[in-house]
Amino acid sequence: MLTIGVDVGGTSARAAVVDEHGQILRTHRVPTPKTGSELNSAIADTVRVLTDTYPVDGVGLAVAGFVSEDLRMVRFAPHLPWRHVAVADELSHRLGLPVVLEHDANAAAVAEQRFGAAVGARVAALVAIGTGIGGALVINGEVFRGAFGVAPELGHLRLVPDGRECPCGKRGCWERYCSGTALAATAAELGATNLPTGVEVARAADAGDELALRAVDDLARWLGEGLALVADVYDPEVVVISGGVSDSAHLFLDRARERYAAAVTGSGHRPLARVRVAHHGDPAAMIGAAAIAREHVLTGPKVR
Ligand SMILES: [Zn+2]
Repeated sequence: MLTIGVDVGGTSARAAVVDEHGQILRTHRVPTPKTGSELNSAIADTVRVLTDTYPVDGVGLAVAGFVSEDLRMVRFAPHLPWRHVAVADELSHRLGLPVVLEHDANAAAVAEQRFGAAVGARVAALVAIGTGIGGALVINGEVFRGAFGVAPELGHLRLVPDGRECPCGKRGCWERYCSGTALAATAAELGATNLPTGVEVARAADAGDELALRAVDDLARWLGEGLALVADVYDPEVVVISGGVSDSAHLFLDRARERYAAAVTGSGHRPLARVRVAHHGDPAAMIGAAAIAREHVLTGPKVR
C-alpha cells in the first residue's frame, strides 16, 4: 500500500509518495500560499500530481501547529493561514481519499520509531533542535499528546530560573540554551561577535575556533541537562536528536551524553537511553505522516 505524506511548512508544502517500508518513491513541492483556501487547493493539486502516477490509499499532513485530538482540524499554526479549519475533511472531500493530520514533530518521531533511529523502541523521545526545540514522544507505538493535545513542550522546560528571556513569555527555557539561536547567543556572550548565527558558530567550531568550541560545549552541557529531565519523567529507551543543529552532532553529542548520564536521577545505577542522531533528516515529517495515513486507513480512525 502506498500513501502520501505532506509536510506543510511556512514557505513550502512538500509531498512524497511513501511505501510501507518508509521509502520515498517520488516527491513534489509547491510554495505555501497566503490564504487558507489557496493552501487547501495547493495541497490538493500537489497530491494529484503524485496520484497521477501512483495509486495511493491515503494522505497524511504534517503541520507545524496545534492539531485537534481527532486529527481532523488545525486549531492554530503560527506560520500557516489555517485557524480552526477542518482541513482533513475538506481535503478528503476534494481528493476522494482518507486524510489525517499530525503535528510535524510527532510525524517525524513516528518516522524514526517505525523506520529510523528508534525502530521498535517502546518509549521513544524526539528532540528536534533548530531555531528552538521541538519535542515528541512515542509510547508503545502511539504518539503521546497529553490530555489536551499540546504535550510535550520540551523546549520550554525551565532549566535556568531567571535565565534568558524566551518568546513564550518565560525565562530560562531549555531552547534558550540548546538551539541554533542559543549557540549564537552564547558565542556573543563569550565575545565572539563575528558569529551571528548558530550555523556560523558550528562552522567556526569545526575549524577549531576556541570561542565557538566553548559555545558548543555550553550547548552540550544544556542538552545533557535537558535530556536528564526528559529521562526522569519518561524514561525513554531511545532519544532521537534531529533538526538543523543535529548536523553538528559530532561536535557535542558525546559530551551531552556524559552530562546526561551524570545528571539523571540514580546516575550509575540505571540503564540509560540511547541518544542517537535521526536517520531521516528533513523528509522525516513526510515519511511519518505517510505512515500515520497508512495506519489510519488500515485500522480506521482512532478515538483519542
Ligand atoms: Zn519558552
